[in-house]
Amino acid sequence: MENQPNRDVSTNLMVVRERMRAATMRAGREPSELRLLLATKTVDASRVLAAVGAGELLLGENKVLEGEGKASALRELDSTVRPNWHVIGHLQTNKIKNALRYADCIQSVDRTRLLEQLDKRLQFEGRSLDIMLQVNTSREDSKYGVPPEDALALARAASSFDTLRVTGLMTIGLLGASPEDARQSFRELREVRERILAEGIEGVEPYELSMGMSGDMEVAIEEGATLIRVGTAVFGARPYPDSYYWPS
Ligand SMILES: *Cc1c(COP(=O)(O)O)cnc(C)c1O
Repeated sequence: MENQPNRDVSTNLMVVRERMRAATMRAGREPSELRLLLATKTVDASRVLAAVGAGELLLGENKVLEGEGKASALRELDSTVRPNWHVIGHLQTNKIKNALRYADCIQSVDRTRLLEQLDKRLQFEGRSLDIMLQVNTSREDSKYGVPPEDALALARAASSFDTLRVTGLMTIGLLGASPEDARQSFRELREVRERILAEGIEGVEPYELSMGMSGDMEVAIEEGATLIRVGTAVFGARPYPDSYYWPS
């Protein structure tokens, strides 16, 4: 009999897709307004490939070098798959070159200096890039992201670079005892989007709301998420604590 070590990945994916469907229905939203991004940190390429084989083509990594390695490992395993990669973790300016080798979007842009350095490299490469602005809606010192009250200024700064298109906003909701604890964070991200859209800034059209993870996706969907980022619910528990990826 054929060995199917990654069968759990496709089963888990079915469960997640059903959760997404049920939550969009409850919220009176169209399922087509919502996409799934798989957070692949610590997950090895063969398990990621199982998810890609099950139809998931939007992937995100926190650490740039890990993402770059995984993107090429996937290509080696199967040169026919072309997933889109997003950077969803803190981006240091000295990793920009590596990020641009594989990433289609950087969701974690949270400061002007990063905009400047991205623009510089993109000018050199003669191309443009989709970015999202990461907003620290939970106001925890331990998380990256621009404070909500500074997001509009950062959006204005982004619009001065022709190489950058702001396609959305990203946040990590408050991680509390209950998923409900994240609701205020998600609501705030939506309000930040309204404020930015109302300004009609050139090159800044943040329709995407990247918010919601394994534990709080339903709340995020109710609050208007267009992109949820899911790891554990698909790949199982991670071997490292999240503090390895997020500042603690
Ligand atoms: C790990 C991670 C996720 C996914 O978290 P899970 O709880 O495993 O679903 C989403 N977003 C970011 C930025 C992450 O680092």
